[in-house]
Amino acid sequence: MRCRALVTPTVYLWASPNTLLGLAFLPLALITGGGVRVERGAVEIYGGFARFFLRRCLLIQASALTLGHVIVGQDRDCLDHSRDHEHVHVRQYARWGPFMLPAYFLSSYLAWRRGGHFYFDNRFEREAFGLFP
Ligand SMILES: [Zn+2]
Repeated sequence: MRCRALVTPTVYLWASPNTLLGLAFLPLALITGGGVRVERGAVEIYGGFARFFLRRCLLIQASALTLGHVIVGQDRDCLDHSRDHEHVHVRQYARWGPFMLPAYFLSSYLAWRRGGHFYFDNRFEREAFGLFP
């Protein structure tokens, strides 16, 4: 228990650059009719600009995405359905810290170079879908 108490703040700090990036969605989502809540130790931002971003601004439409300890979702239902998947990504951010996004994009690039799909064959996504140890 004592060890866990020391690890948790360190994990949040290690992932904090990505978490700050995710928190940038908060004011935009709130002023456009979205909302925010905390579930399982992660901030969940949904609706408004968050929905627009996930539907229109990515290479593929997403129901949710994770940045550090922030999960951005189209709406509350999307967050409820994708929570287990997104929390695998939360743990990946806790493991990789500031190197997570470069590693994620490198994995997408390598998957694409091998002839695979940049999203579904990305090793971080395969782990989140339970296809990779
Ligand atoms: Zn994912």
